[in-house]
Amino acid sequence: MGLDSAFVHARAFLSKSAPTEIERLKILCRRIRLAEQDLNRQAVPLLARCQFTCQGLCCRNILLEEIITPCDLVFILVETAGLQDLIAAALRRVPTLYSAPCVFLSDGQGPCLFPADVRPEKCLTTFCADERPIRTELRNLRRAFGRLNRHLLGQRTRLLFALFSRCCGFGRNGERTMRWTTKSR
Ligand code: SF4
Ligand code: SF4
Repeated sequence: MGLDSAFVHARAFLSKSAPTEIERLKILCRRIRLAEQDLNRQAVPLLARCQFTCQGLCCRNILLEEIITPCDLVFILVETAGLQDLIAAALRRVPTLYSAPCVFLSDGQGPCLFPADVRPEKCLTTFCADERPIRTELRNLRRAFGRLNRHLLGQRTRLLFALFSRCCGFGRNGERTMRWTTKSR
């Protein structure tokens, strides 16, 4: 199952979820968003290096399916429902074998399609520089994603999500990715 299929399933999962479940997801996703905002504030020097020195180098050399998880998809869908069609269109362009510019770079160059505080976990938690100044914020963000992940795995659709994880080869460690944070080039 590719990321485009995972996206379809994530959308179906949300559309079939009861209002109480949606409310719970909104709370969990709001925590992630706040954690991303904290991290963005604290990581300004590191992000500036990505933006001005590398101009989003890491966003231009990725294997998308190794970066974005089902949990990320749910988070992004809950927080940016209005982007659904753009995301679906972008996912139809995912190359299957080689690293390539991220399909979520607007016009293939940037900025990232997603708001700065609604990024996939790995896009905001992997730096090539000294992370000690942002250790607390990184830990808080990983915990916030962890809560959403555990919640999703505990739902009645847990088999579906387990399937996503296996089929898409979603890992949590290792790959370096980056965020392309400029508003314009
Ligand atoms: S994380 Fe990637 S984009 Fe950022 S400074 Fe390092 S190599 Fe450049
Ligand atoms: S920050 Fe955005 S453009 Fe960069 S890899 Fe992540 S999703 Fe793609």
